[in-house]
Amino acid sequence: MKTTFIVKRILNTLSWAIVAASRSTFLIGILGGFGVTGGAHRLWTHRSFKANLPLRIILMLCFSAAGQNSLYDWVRDHRVHHKYSETDADPHNSNRGFFFSHVGWLMMYKHPEVLRRGRQIDMKDVLDDPVVLFHEKYFIPLKILCCFLLPTIVPIYGWGEEVKYALISQCVFRYICSLNFTWSVNSAAHMWGNRPYDKRINPTENVYVSVIALGEGWHNYHHVFPWDYKAAELGKYSFNYTTMFLDAFNKIGWCWDMKQPSKELIQRTYEKYGDGSHALSHGVTLTDANSHIPEVPDPELEVNSNIDLIKLDENENVSKKICTLRD
Ligand SMILES: [Zn+2]
Ligand SMILES: [Zn+2]
Repeated sequence: MKTTFIVKRILNTLSWAIVAASRSTFLIGILGGFGVTGGAHRLWTHRSFKANLPLRIILMLCFSAAGQNSLYDWVRDHRVHHKYSETDADPHNSNRGFFFSHVGWLMMYKHPEVLRRGRQIDMKDVLDDPVVLFHEKYFIPLKILCCFLLPTIVPIYGWGEEVKYALISQCVFRYICSLNFTWSVNSAAHMWGNRPYDKRINPTENVYVSVIALGEGWHNYHHVFPWDYKAAELGKYSFNYTTMFLDAFNKIGWCWDMKQPSKELIQRTYEKYGDGSHALSHGVTLTDANSHIPEVPDPELEVNSNIDLIKLDENENVSKKICTLRD
């Protein structure tokens, strides 16, 4: 009896959420996703293409609609993640389990190694971009405006959406979904799937993550060739909507210098390091999958071994720059 009641309540809540979502629009979810994948990730973190000012502003506003960390923090954390994957310095080290790499890392203090390595990351290119500095300076108002206020108000005044549906679909349903979709790249795409390009690292090719994260689930490839603007080898788009959008902007000349490796380099790589699951692979056998990549030598530790790790300010550089702007 009690079980039937619980099941009914769950079904009721689910159907209400689906109604709320279908009565509103997924547009903001897709725009926010594009700001994260095309902007914060492929443009500002990996510099895999160049973009003109209008596109950078669009990407910054879209990124604000996703309601995540500041652009500067996002880029620094992701650069540290690539450089020190699956070590203590990786902000969402997947060796600490699914929950930690998915969302747990955002709920607790960062490991001292994450702070120390984060401080060493070269962020000069990011600090030189006035669009990033503008976002850093107005981070909170931009987040409230683009992620919560506008997406709720526009459906109400634009096409007479009921207030409760606008609030639930945009501020709860869409926000929770888009955060989890992004986080799944750090968790699921570091755990489940094939490793056709490098069997020695954790990141995998995960089609489900690609579907929900606008094409960011081809993660084994991405960790091998992070500077490829497609973040995947696939010629056809295969759920890689971010690439599709970027190609469209490339056609009208708003972005250019779209970097990608040659077919020969990709082939040499999967034949040498892949797990044999690549469609064109020559049957390389799986041996030491999941082993850690070697740690990058740390010049700072050798120079100053007594450094106080806890007191390091990972945002020291950006704080100084913003103070200069305010003066
Ligand atoms: Zn990763
Ligand atoms: Zn990346």
